Amino acid sequence: MARSEVLAPLPEGDAAHAAHAAATADGAADAAELLSPDQLPSERQGEAGLRPGSLAEFVGQSELKGHLEVLLGAAGKRREPVDHLLFAGPPGLGKTTLAHIVANEVDAYLHSTSGPALERGGDLAAMLSKLETGDVLFIDEIHRLPRPVEEVLYSAMEDFRVDIVLGKGPAARSIPLDLAPFTLVGATTRTGLLTGPLRDRFGLVSRLDFYTAEDLVRIVDRSARIFGVRIDSGGAVQIAGRSRGTPRIANRLLRQVRDFAEVHRDGRIDSQVAADGLAFFGVDEIGLDRASRAVIEALCGSFGGGPVGLATLAIAVSEPTETVEDVYEPYLIQQGLLMRTPRGRVATPAAWQHLGLDAPRRNPDSDPGLFD
Ligand code: ADP
Repeated sequence: MARSEVLAPLPEGDAAHAAHAAATADGAADAAELLSPDQLPSERQGEAGLRPGSLAEFVGQSELKGHLEVLLGAAGKRREPVDHLLFAGPPGLGKTTLAHIVANEVDAYLHSTSGPALERGGDLAAMLSKLETGDVLFIDEIHRLPRPVEEVLYSAMEDFRVDIVLGKGPAARSIPLDLAPFTLVGATTRTGLLTGPLRDRFGLVSRLDFYTAEDLVRIVDRSARIFGVRIDSGGAVQIAGRSRGTPRIANRLLRQVRDFAEVHRDGRIDSQVAADGLAFFGVDEIGLDRASRAVIEALCGSFGGGPVGLATLAIAVSEPTETVEDVYEPYLIQQGLLMRTPRGRVATPAAWQHLGLDAPRRNPDSDPGLFD
């Protein structure tokens, strides 16, 4: 089992956390928060117990698992640290879990931090100097590393060396510091924001996909076993189908339905109890919560289905553009409800249908940009 340490507090400044704090202060846990793929503070404890500890327990993502098996196996045979790994994808799909698994599988120490927590090059250098041979350093939100810190990382990743600059101006001296060979595991929701030099220094860059309904059923079953919840296959299918392809949401919905079943039913979860519980918390049949629905409602209701720019859409739903782009849009796009076009965001006929509205007829000849 790997040992682990959090070297700097993970930032909590994002919109979901702020929204959660506000909602908790009001005593109002709302459905938008329920469906957020970001980890809520109350979940931190619970997630540790649910996290698969080995590749064998990690459900789905078979291609990625295959690649990792080879990399970990080869590194083990050569008795070398594993190559640096980058995991990309929307929140809640298992990037942090994979970092833990990598450390577990090679029986190494895991050190965790995040991009925004490393403000200066010195913060990173101090952390790197503590690593021992084979240790795993996990940097969450690596796309948010300040540039000077990122530059310290280049030589650390490539040559296991950093240059420490002492003093300022003409008197400044640079002292090289050798590091123990280590493995960097980076996680990002935005590969597009990663600079080329950083990206190129990873031995494996992997994108996590949304999970299939079958995989999510397996995740719900596994978590129910860990929680000691009685659930039949119909109940698991209901919860999995509304989890927006995201294990973290599946686990969260399971907890909520469990609570609903304990308070309003006899504690057992079947398809009907799950459907009632999910409806109670405002989660619709395809798993959209109030916040995701607000995006397509604004698109159709206020902007005639688009095209509308991301910034305008974000203002309309009172969310930061980053949250709309990283958290809500990927699943809406995957469900075929929203398109990103060169001229802006556009609602698809399926979005109109989902809202129970008539889609306006469009003419591709007079509106070529939409179909690029
Ligand atoms: P990310 O770092 O991508 O935001 P996490 O690794 O924190 O996501 O995963 C969120 C939770 O979802 C974890 O605590 C774990 O319980 C669950 N989870 C994620 N991926 C899987 C998986 N493949 N199999 C089982 N559970 C998973």
